[in-house]
Amino acid sequence: MQTGTIVYFDIAAVVIMMIALASLLFRKLTHGAANRVYLTCMVLVTVTALCAVVGEALDALLLRPLMPLYPVDTNAPLAVRSAFTTIYYALRVLTAPAYLVLIATVSDTSHRLDSSNFRRVFLWVPMVLTVLIVLTNPLHHLVFFYENGFAQREPLICVLYFCAIYYSLIGIAWLIRWRELLDPEELSTLMLLYPIMLAAAAIQYELPALRLEMFVTSIAMMLVSAFVIHPETRRDAMVNAASLHSYNEMTYRAFITDKPLCLAFVEIVNREKLRELLGKHRVQAITREVADMLTTTLEHDDTLYYLRNVLFCIATRNIDVEHALRIAKNTHEAGKARSETRKEKAAVTQMRTCIVRIPEDISDTETLVSFERRFGHLVPQSTVVTYGELAARDDFELQMKLSDILEHAIDNKSFEIHYQPIYCLRDGCFHSAEALVRLKDKRFGWIAPSLFIPEAEASGAILDIGSILLEKICAFLGRIDFSTTGLAYIEANLSVDQCVRPELADEILCLLEKNDVEPARLNLEVTETSAMYSQQAIDENVKKLAAAGITLSLDDYGVGYSNMSRMIALPFSLVKIDKSFVDALDDSATRTILASAIDSIKQIGKEVLIEGVETEEQAQLLAKMGADFIQGYHYAKPLPEDKFIEFMQEHRRT
Ligand code: C2E
Ligand code: CA
Ligand code: CA
Repeated sequence: MQTGTIVYFDIAAVVIMMIALASLLFRKLTHGAANRVYLTCMVLVTVTALCAVVGEALDALLLRPLMPLYPVDTNAPLAVRSAFTTIYYALRVLTAPAYLVLIATVSDTSHRLDSSNFRRVFLWVPMVLTVLIVLTNPLHHLVFFYENGFAQREPLICVLYFCAIYYSLIGIAWLIRWRELLDPEELSTLMLLYPIMLAAAAIQYELPALRLEMFVTSIAMMLVSAFVIHPETRRDAMVNAASLHSYNEMTYRAFITDKPLCLAFVEIVNREKLRELLGKHRVQAITREVADMLTTTLEHDDTLYYLRNVLFCIATRNIDVEHALRIAKNTHEAGKARSETRKEKAAVTQMRTCIVRIPEDISDTETLVSFERRFGHLVPQSTVVTYGELAARDDFELQMKLSDILEHAIDNKSFEIHYQPIYCLRDGCFHSAEALVRLKDKRFGWIAPSLFIPEAEASGAILDIGSILLEKICAFLGRIDFSTTGLAYIEANLSVDQCVRPELADEILCLLEKNDVEPARLNLEVTETSAMYSQQAIDENVKKLAAAGITLSLDDYGVGYSNMSRMIALPFSLVKIDKSFVDALDDSATRTILASAIDSIKQIGKEVLIEGVETEEQAQLLAKMGADFIQGYHYAKPLPEDKFIEFMQEHRRT
């Protein structure tokens, strides 16, 4: 049968592949192992199709017009023509193994391909031998032979088909073995391509003139691009890095397939500060710049992932502390250079970096997730540490187990509440108390609220905890006798996430009613927040609660985002000034600021409480400055319920 009569399919294949390649390069989808292997496969298919087209063109333009003039088989055009066919067949041999590598790469199992010498031989020797048979065809002519200007297939051409079938069977077996690592869509696409391509090869074998093979292969590559390579889920939409989705997939697969990995986590430490100084958009731009800086440090098959807010992870085969230090230092230096050129001197990005080895350090998803979540608390600022160094610390296990401990405590409602008496300077007696949560774990003992409250706020558990605490506090209010303790009210802390819930006010009023407590016996402490979106919801709750007779305090005044105008606008009756002012009372500037703050707060008709008073001198000084209330260890520590009642009865003004 004559070949070369229908070349349009090959030309179409070349055009399709060129467009697909251009789009890949244009979209810069060249980072990461999967993209690179896919790109290599595309180049392979393109060059193969190109060889077919050029070969056919040579036939049409040179060989057939010249044929009558030359004796066959020794002339130069025929040698050139043969060379193209040889290259075409050799590249064709590579397609099935390349596809196998693609499957292994997109399922993150490529490390399994060469995990033993036996596997290496089993996998690569058949391919090498087949290529050798093709390349030595000019010597033995057992694969194909030109006769009368047309290639005739010879017996050893079967080896090529056997080779393709061999790799297809391995590919199918591989897909079945690792099916849990792929989405159903990915799995079915990758699987389906085998029958499609084998059918095309069979048709071309029977009807060589119908040059379907390359065309079908190029369509198959497009299917892979559409259903398996998903650039949009693999890249982060905001930052030029791989997405959280692909990070989760990559680590999940690494655990299942025992893939050794080294992860370098890098986080911008001072995000909040940067946001305050420069605004949200600049912080996004800085995050993108950091991603670009980190990209320049990547080597070989390293991938940069963007996990959340300002946390990055570089996944690599191997990373040593030196390399990680270099990453951290380069990023810091670049951040400094950037801030200098943009006159953002105060906004030097500071990084924290930690190197984790998988599976030596972490070998399951759960631990990895806890680690990522606690990253900012575990890793000190501006340093590079290894996971091993962190794990050697005393509180490491507690930090890692914190969310489990909280979950357990929520299920068992095992939080306790201690009450810290508050002293009224004006009346010279104890007047109220702040309810403070306490958590005791069987294994770790007392856990500080400053440790678990931020974790609960970050995970959302604070809503459940907050409800449990309010329930307990209201029940306590229902039990105590206000006349024998001399208590005016109890202050309870509210987290911002609680305050933004529209149901909050009704829930609290309902709890008070249930326990038969007058609203005036409860005072709620609210902190300021920078989150503009939440202010309206907070304001509505605050106003509703105040209207019902519950008094409100503004907590932690002087730290964070507290501002005068909000303090004036909202019905706070008490402003609690943060302990940091008391700690800095030696400083005359602090004294001046504090005195004028107390003065102005009182002038707008609110009372002032100073927190964290530990000495008599501090108390006297603050009394002189005009503070109304004092809370601190100097007067009383937070006490368990029974001790607190005793304390109040004892210290009651008679
Ligand atoms: P906060 O609301 O500012 O509470 C005052 C903290 O200062 C308490 O720490 C209290 O024990 C401590 N303190 C009081 N006087 C002194 C003193 O003289 N010296 C020193 N060094 N500390 C003093 P605690 O109980 O560890 O609570 C820490 C933070 O945890 C609280 O700060 C509050 O933000 C949060 N928190 C505590 N209980 C609750 C709660 O029931 N709900 C919520 N949402 N947050 C809570
Ligand atoms: Ca408080
Ligand atoms: Ca406070």
